Amino acid sequence: MKSVFVVLALVLAVLGVIFLIGSQGLILRLAVGTVLLASAVALIVAATRRPRLEQRTIVQRIELSGDVQQQELTCRNCGAALGPESVSVRAGAAFVTCRYCGAGYQLEEAPKW
Ligand SMILES: [Zn+2]
Repeated sequence: MKSVFVVLALVLAVLGVIFLIGSQGLILRLAVGTVLLASAVALIVAATRRPRLEQRTIVQRIELSGDVQQQELTCRNCGAALGPESVSVRAGAAFVTCRYCGAGYQLEEAPKW
């Protein structure tokens, strides 16, 4: 896309120069040549300007299909209470990392039956 703009700008610039060095109709010729050159410069500026950086926010959500009971999350290994900072989402699954004993495991949903 960028190279298309550059080629178009070069064509406009060449046309502008041709109009400027032409031999007939001084004022109209100068006006057209100036407009063509200005368009060429504007195209070059537009083509070489850096695109803006895009900022994206990714929200990860966990869908729980079974009944959800509110209970305190405790470490399976040492029984310590786990806060929200101990739970992280990796590859779509919830992982628990205990900050007391260092144990790490995946949170599993209890079956409905
Ligand atoms: Zn633990």
